Amino acid sequence: MSTLTQRDQRVIWHPYTQEKTAAPPLPIVRGEGPYLIGENEERYLDAVSSWWVNLHGHSHPYIAEKIYAQLLTLEHVIFAGFTHPPAVEVAERLLTHLPDQQARIFYSDNGSTAVEIGIKMARQYFYNQGKRRSKLVAFNEAFHGETFGAMAASGDHDFNRAFHDDLFEVWRIPAPVDEQRTQEALKQLEHHLQTGEVYAFLFEPLILGAGGMLMYTPEVLDQLISLCHRYDVLCIADEVMTGFGRTGTTFASNQLQEQPDIMAMSKGLTGGTLPLAITTCSEKIFSAFLSEDKLKAFFHGHSYTANPVGCAAALASLDLLERETTQANIQRIVKQHAAFRTKIISHPALRRVQQTGTIIALEFATPEGTSYFNDLRDKLYYFFLERGILLRPLGNVIYILPPYCMTETQLKEVYLAIEESLQMISTSAISA
Ligand code: PMP
Repeated sequence: MSTLTQRDQRVIWHPYTQEKTAAPPLPIVRGEGPYLIGENEERYLDAVSSWWVNLHGHSHPYIAEKIYAQLLTLEHVIFAGFTHPPAVEVAERLLTHLPDQQARIFYSDNGSTAVEIGIKMARQYFYNQGKRRSKLVAFNEAFHGETFGAMAASGDHDFNRAFHDDLFEVWRIPAPVDEQRTQEALKQLEHHLQTGEVYAFLFEPLILGAGGMLMYTPEVLDQLISLCHRYDVLCIADEVMTGFGRTGTTFASNQLQEQPDIMAMSKGLTGGTLPLAITTCSEKIFSAFLSEDKLKAFFHGHSYTANPVGCAAALASLDLLERETTQANIQRIVKQHAAFRTKIISHPALRRVQQTGTIIALEFATPEGTSYFNDLRDKLYYFFLERGILLRPLGNVIYILPPYCMTETQLKEVYLAIEESLQMISTSAISA
């Protein structure tokens, strides 16, 4: 009899994996709270929320029941020309959490697509008014997803090298992670805006995720947005990672004085249970698509747009997120992270320890600098797995992005393993 892993290796092609050299995938047969459980009952504490999607723990019974009930009621219906209760309810409830200016909800099914839709909305907003603006501005280290538009919007990542020649040109500014780069970013942004060719500025608010968990302040983002608005340029907040409590507030944009015109979200939208995504926009943008001219409509839609089961999961996840206990857990994680940061901030093996809300990132002081393909990455990944903890380093950067149900004790276990890894790195550096 073949094992699950052997059967997998005959037929499956995994994401972001060099299949020739990668270790075989770990079989997971069950999920329970913050744990992923293997075939032989081995338990892994999911400290990265399974690629940043999980909010309330795995196989949550409340969400599961709501999904089941929805499946028995209406599993799917075409969303062009039709509507249904869960889609409307998610839209109404989400708007109560979003910055005031957001007024319309457009559904899709993954983060990359939510961003692509935002880009298309912004570009067509000007096109519909007869204005030819063709340039997008984004950060150097940005990551916005996997489809061609999202790859183009992302920074110059090694993963996208094969497609460079096919990607539309995006004007870049530095991520404003320190005073010098902030001044540079503001200067370069203004220079781009002065050309009159820019239709939108796209950004991950407060944290550039896959680019290495690079963090910056709401005050700086306010300055960048305000500058764009002075030139009548739209601002698109990619909240695919930051949405639904990760930064300590429901959305990172809730910490801003200025407001984005368009927002993209996915991952935590369904609490990590089903693929669903949303792009929201202001009434001003929506209005620019209203016309007697049919060609001014937004011609975008997917087979599973606004899938009712996904929407039911989103409603259940919102119920849980709005609970006082969840909000208290978020604030407890924020405090725990802050104390841990203070404890390790001056460790000689670390170059950077940063925290925004429930996300804490540690950059190891490797000579190569930050790189996704840093050798340390694999070493750390397996170091933690052996200790029953799932942390997936981005090169020499490790981060904790936990489901909110992770208890104080479980989080302490993760910190302890990280401290052990610091010890391991320091010792091996001395012996090298
Ligand atoms: N935007 C950001 C900020 C992301 O972090 C990601 C995924 N890591 C995406 C977009 C793409 O989302 P998805 O993987 O759901 O397509």
